[in-house]
Amino acid sequence: MSAWESSVQEAGSNVDWVQRLPALVGNLNTWSSSLRPIAEKIANGVRLSVDDGLVLYRHPNLTEVGRLAHCVRVARFDDYAFFNSNVHVNQTNICVLACKFCAFRRSKRADDAYALELDDYLRDLEQYADHVDEVHSVGGLHPDWGIEHYEALFSATRERFPHIAIKALTAVEIKHLSKLSDLPYSVVLNRLKDAGLGSLPGGGAEILDDAVRAVICNGKESSTEYLEIHQTAHELGIPTNCTMLFGTIETLEQRLMHMVKLRELNDVTSGFQCFVPYPFLPDHTRLPEAQLATGSEILRTIAISRLMLDSIPHIKAYRMNIGDELAELALQYGADDIDGTVQKESIMHLAGSTTPLDHDRIRLSRLIKDAGCIPVQRNTTYQKFEIFVPPKIKPRRKLKMASQ
Ligand code: SF4
Repeated sequence: MSAWESSVQEAGSNVDWVQRLPALVGNLNTWSSSLRPIAEKIANGVRLSVDDGLVLYRHPNLTEVGRLAHCVRVARFDDYAFFNSNVHVNQTNICVLACKFCAFRRSKRADDAYALELDDYLRDLEQYADHVDEVHSVGGLHPDWGIEHYEALFSATRERFPHIAIKALTAVEIKHLSKLSDLPYSVVLNRLKDAGLGSLPGGGAEILDDAVRAVICNGKESSTEYLEIHQTAHELGIPTNCTMLFGTIETLEQRLMHMVKLRELNDVTSGFQCFVPYPFLPDHTRLPEAQLATGSEILRTIAISRLMLDSIPHIKAYRMNIGDELAELALQYGADDIDGTVQKESIMHLAGSTTPLDHDRIRLSRLIKDAGCIPVQRNTTYQKFEIFVPPKIKPRRKLKMASQ
């Protein structure tokens, strides 16, 4: 089978993934004594607690934690690793908030503030339109852009590029539109869906703990509001992702409680398709007290996400944030999905590369294969899948030497 389809809820998981776990976890005596009770729970499909998560965080052998996470990842998806062809177009960096961890936002009067008007946005997207099927658009909270602006943007995008799915606006952007336009979340989301919005990215979750949020992103949506907005989207048939920004000031317990809140919501709605854990990057931010995450902590957090989040199908290695090398390793530590293709290649493409369709997919598939996995291209909402077979690369023609 080289291509297949799935439902939003399954998102490509093997339907019998829980039944496959005992064989994959294997003989419990092969696990170290402190990890054995957790391995036993995993083998029996028993949900892990926050205390289990703490054991996993404190376990001295990272490789063993990764091995356990890999059992669950293989139970769900075998050795497949998923990616899609996407482009990120950030519509504006003007923002009425000033989250301490954010290096992106600008005030309206800043020299490098920008706001893409509709034509500029479409022109930007047009440069990639032939080789992407998803546009990922998030940005600042523009003080003057209400829901009509985004309705016009999405419907123009859909009309001009009907093959490109629109994944756009984080929960705080939905909250901002709701406030500016004085409409409930459900009406905002429904109108945007009618205009062409296909799914929501998960950004803005940071850590779902209001004491942490008061320090790192004061004024943003509360934990409850983040969950409420995603729940409303799910109820309206809009699938979403969810994220976790770690390595700022949060405790391990707060990370684990964050995961618990997300999995409990997904027990009810089944609308989260993917969890994206990524570490805080400190350049040009205002959080000197941040603890920052090491490489092994990033891998460990990805592995623990896989083990804790039994109701969320995909765990993403976000290579734009953690880099290609860690993203590749993460595919052996519980991650099954890797984002994305175009962003890094846009410079070459804009500079006139003649390999517009496949260069980046080839590079990504090589990374996936080196991690021992099979590259599978997916659509934006994890319902269509196709094994990616890289085309053969033509050998370079030798340049003719000038005769002497
Ligand atoms: S709301 Fe978003 S863009 Fe605005 S400051 Fe916070 S993280 Fe940055």
